[in-house]
Parts: sequence; structure tokens; C-alpha cells
Amino acid sequence: MRIAYGCFSFMNKIHFTTLPGDGIGPEVMTVCLNVLKALGERKNFEILSSSHDVGGIGIDNHGTALPESTLEACRKADAILFGSVGGPRWENLPPKEQPERAALLPLRKEFELFANLRPGNLYSELADLSPLRSETVARGIDVLCVRELTGGIYFGQPKSTQVLENGEEQAIDTMVYRTGEIERIAEIAVRAAALRNGRICSVDKANVLETSVLWRKIVSQSVARLDSSIELSHMYVDNAAMQLVRDPNQFDVMVTENMFGDILSDELAVICGSLGMLASASLGTPKNSLGFPFGLYEPAGGTAPDIAGKGLANPCAQVLSAALMLRYSFGMEEAASSIENAVKESIRSGLRTGDIAQGGNTVGTEEMGQAIIDRLS
Ligand code: NAD
Repeated sequence: MRIAYGCFSFMNKIHFTTLPGDGIGPEVMTVCLNVLKALGERKNFEILSSSHDVGGIGIDNHGTALPESTLEACRKADAILFGSVGGPRWENLPPKEQPERAALLPLRKEFELFANLRPGNLYSELADLSPLRSETVARGIDVLCVRELTGGIYFGQPKSTQVLENGEEQAIDTMVYRTGEIERIAEIAVRAAALRNGRICSVDKANVLETSVLWRKIVSQSVARLDSSIELSHMYVDNAAMQLVRDPNQFDVMVTENMFGDILSDELAVICGSLGMLASASLGTPKNSLGFPFGLYEPAGGTAPDIAGKGLANPCAQVLSAALMLRYSFGMEEAASSIENAVKESIRSGLRTGDIAQGGNTVGTEEMGQAIIDRLS
């Protein structure tokens, strides 16, 4: 059986909530919405979207990083398009009230966002941005990392620090996975791979960890049950970390547990060169009103306080996050590809924001956005 992850279906309206946040968030979100509107005009869909405070601006205007009115708007929508939150103004607040923690963690909990998808994309035109050798990345990089986000050692109990009888301190973290948690992340990986090149590499440490032995068994069973045409391989995490820098394009989709994914997805981001180009998606258990996973879509970078308000931010990561939203929460594969191709063509034409310019001529946020709009098919 092969499960489809939705192909472009005719749809009049798409309903999502925008949470631009702080710093460069609002600047890149404005560009992103313009791109979506322009695409809607070409592809005959309408955007139903309202914008709400989150993060530092939420603290300033409502006394909390995630106001109830914002959460309520998210509950009514089919997806969340998120900017980024935080900045120097709120840095001295207690850790629990910090914009990132107080906004993103409750959103993850509310919508059971258990799957984090981080595409590692480097266009061949930007190959010099990668710290990898030029011959390794001459053709660019195109890998998708699927990370389990709510289980494993970060959340397992017991988790504590005790003083032993001899006076030494002892700390314990517990790595736990249940069958259902592995099955649902494997399903996300299968759906993603079916839209790409049909290959999954599951990363674990099954030579040492019990959780990894279960992980490997359940991933194998799930893939065989969901889509027998998927080519599945398994790799130990230490080898995967090495292979990712040796030859990233040997991977199509990597799927892995929480801590391994935390590390590997950051490694993937670094080898792709610029935060301004990297999007991410977090998919939840609840299905939206269209029967697709509810998701939160955001750029991989933060609020970039050093360039905020100057019109210099690279909007590509935000725009590419919107493409992921169309793909995963609205099943609009063709529209998602249109955006991704338009971004690629804009870069191919030589346009560069400061973060990817390498000393050449640069354009601002709006100009890059207009270039993307001009290239939408
Ligand atoms: P950052 O990602 O904001 O910035 C790191 C560097 O990358 C900066 O030089 C910045 O100018 C550049 N950069 C990032 N995105 C860019 C873009 N779109 N275009 C051009 N350049 C870009 O990381 P930081 O400086 O460590 O954090 C700044 C603030 O952002 C902090 O308050 C942090 O907590 C917050 N943050 C938020 C999120 C989130 O909302 N999910 C993620 C990371 C950091």
C-alpha cells in the first residue's frame, strides 16, 4: 500500500493564523503573506488569516508571551505560520517567562506537536556558504530531517539529581519510547518520503540502547505496513553524524528520536550555510478541518536583533516555511513547489540578501520578496 500525502486539490480558502512575533519576524512575515496572496491569485485560492501577538510583543501588550486571544485564534485555524520571538528587551525576565519558552512550549503542548521537520536545503548557487568542501556540495544539498519532538530522554521520568550517601551528586535522565510514539513519527517520515525520493534512513543506537532496539523494530514494521515501495535503511547515530558531513546527499529523509534529531538537525543546518534560508515544520496529532496534520511553520533562525527594523532580513526561510504549510497542512503540493521554485529561481538570478551575499551586491527584504512573487509560476 502506498499512502499519498495529498496532491494539489482545488480549494477556495485556506485558513491559518499568523504569529509574526518580534525582531525581523513582522518584516519577513509581511513579505511572506504577500507571496501567498500573489500565489492565491494565480492558483485561485483565498487566504483567511488573522495576525496575533506572540512572544515579546505579547508580553508588552498583554502581560504574557502567549495571550489567550492568540491561543484561541490558533485553535480555530488549520495551521500556524510563526515568525520568531525574543530579543534583548526581554532577556532579563525569569527563564519561565522568556518569550521563546513561554510561547513555543505551550503551543507545542496544546497542539501535540510531536514531529519536527527540518529540510536541509542548499542550492548549488550558494554552495560556497557551506563549511563542507566544495566538491562535496557542488550540486547543493537536499535532505529532510524528521525529529521526534515530545518523547525520549528530554521528557522521560525519572529525571532528578540526588546527593548520595557518600556526598557525591548523581543525576538521572530516562530515555523512554512507546510503540505508538514511534509509529506516528514513522508515518510522518513515510508521508514525507513519498513526496520526495522515497528513501528513509532511520537513525538510532540499537547496538547500545533498548529504546533504539524498539525504535528500529517499530520503524521497520510501520514502513512495511504503510508503503512497501519506500527504501528503508538504518544507521547508528555516530555514523550518521559522520556521514552527514562526508556525503549529505546519500540521505533523502532521516528519521530519528528527540535528542539525536536535535543534534543532527543542527548539524544539517550548519552544513547548509545560512539560517536565512532554512524553514521548519512541527506537525501535531490533531488533524485540521481538512483532515491534514495541524502544524506550526517557522523559520529556523531567531529574531536577528542585529538587523531588525532595517529591511535587511532574508525572507526566504519564512516564505519556504509557508511552502511547507501548504504541503503538509493543506495538501497543496503544486502550490508548495511553486513557492520553492520561485525562491530557487530568485537565488539563481543572482539576488542576495546580506546574509548570503559573500561580499557581492545585496538586496533588502522587500526586493527579495518581490523577486519571489515575480517568479511564481
Ligand atoms: P538569530 O537566529 O536571531 O541570529 C543569528 C545570526 O543569524 C544573526 O547574525 C542574524 O542576523 C542572522 N540571521 C538569522 N535569521 C536571519 C535572516 N532571516 N536573515 C538574515 N540574517 C539572519 O539567533 P540569536 O542571535 O542567537 O537569537 C536572537 C533572538 O532570537 C534571541 O532572543 C533568541 O532567543 C531568539 N530566537 C528565537 C527563536 C524562535 O523564535 N524560534 C529561535 C532562535 C532564537
